[in-house]
Amino acid sequence: MKNVISAVCVECGAEYEATPNTTVCPKCGGILDIKYDYNYIKSQVTPEDMADRHENSMWRYQEFLPVEGIGKRPKLRVGWSPFYHAVHLEEMLGVDKLYVKDDGINPTASLKDRASAMAVVKAEEAEVDTICCSSTGNAASSLAGNSAAAGFKTFIFVPSRAPKGKVSQLLNFGATVMSVEGSYEETFNMSALAIERYGWYNRNAAINPYLMEGKKTVALEIAEQLGWKMTDYVALSVGDGCTIAGVWKGFKDLYAAGFIDKLPRLISVQAEGCCPLNKAIAEDKPWKPMEENTIADSIAVGVPRNATKALNAIRESNGVVVNVSDQEILDAMKLLGRTCGVFGEPAGVAGTAGLKKAVEQGLVPKNATYVSIVTGNGLKDVVNAIKAAGEPISLKPEPERLLKVFKELGVE
Ligand SMILES: *Cc1c(COP(=O)(O)O)cnc(C)c1O
Ligand SMILES: [Zn+2]
Repeated sequence: MKNVISAVCVECGAEYEATPNTTVCPKCGGILDIKYDYNYIKSQVTPEDMADRHENSMWRYQEFLPVEGIGKRPKLRVGWSPFYHAVHLEEMLGVDKLYVKDDGINPTASLKDRASAMAVVKAEEAEVDTICCSSTGNAASSLAGNSAAAGFKTFIFVPSRAPKGKVSQLLNFGATVMSVEGSYEETFNMSALAIERYGWYNRNAAINPYLMEGKKTVALEIAEQLGWKMTDYVALSVGDGCTIAGVWKGFKDLYAAGFIDKLPRLISVQAEGCCPLNKAIAEDKPWKPMEENTIADSIAVGVPRNATKALNAIRESNGVVVNVSDQEILDAMKLLGRTCGVFGEPAGVAGTAGLKKAVEQGLVPKNATYVSIVTGNGLKDVVNAIKAAGEPISLKPEPERLLKVFKELGVE
């Protein structure tokens, strides 16, 4: 990989060769970060080149990714998700510009597909035939789907609270699924044990440094979809912290390669009932574990696995932290649906809930431009979707009833 220099430990700074099986720092156990040669990247690709590319997936950015090529195995089409100018919501919030990036449109319906697509390519490079992960749900279903397409075996550990929509996906994708009766932390530990024992490829985003590189493609797309004119703020939800760290890495890569001339500020959104990273930023203290008390299961992460990278990303971007209640998340689900026609799961819309709250509370200015990333699709968690929007009008199949009901609704 001519574009990659090394893998650097974010805790102790030690540098290693980036091999397909690279995981954490052998010295201190810290998470590694892939370091690029931006002069080389610049010599290979320009922003103008991108316009001519017909690869409508995350792989259109190969020069910025830690891969030789994308391997021979079949792939799902991941990335190049829709980017909408959210006119109605923009007007409602009174901000200069607001865009919504809908990553729920990915093949298994979440942003996690970007990391799993990367995992599958690296697993092929590593010449293994089995991949394993633990997940609150979406990392698992995306791994199962991307692995199924590519012909890998998968073993998956989920906490027993994972919503049925997600579990049903991974079972249909043919994964062997372990539903752990415990917290996400306990689930993670079980998967680590199994990976160690059986030598499987590790698709745990907080251990495998390549996965964040897949996630960063959402930022590369946002920049390109904005015509390389950077937005002031990007809002997204945060659990383990790999997504926000990836998003920040993507923007920094583009800045270093001269594709964009400024960096956005990140709005890190967590749930009030589980916000260890935002709390650490707000109090300027080290993070401490919290209970996992929110309906937004994908960000119910009491012990964040990528805390250092996430905290660095929020601080470096001069970011803003906002915590939202479950009710605010449910309201945002309805709001996005009604104003944009975008259907997100609770964690998927939490970024928008936080953006709305930050604008309303004056934490961020109205005369600024915003991008809100929707990270997962609403069909993942229909129980909460119904909670957000309520039940339909029940109607007996009798004409008089119909007229009566519509009269009550004020329909003439
Ligand atoms: C995983 C996930 C997140 C949070 O990403 P982290 O890397 O855990 O911070 C947010 N939303 C959805 C839908 C997710 O699946
Ligand atoms: Zn180290």
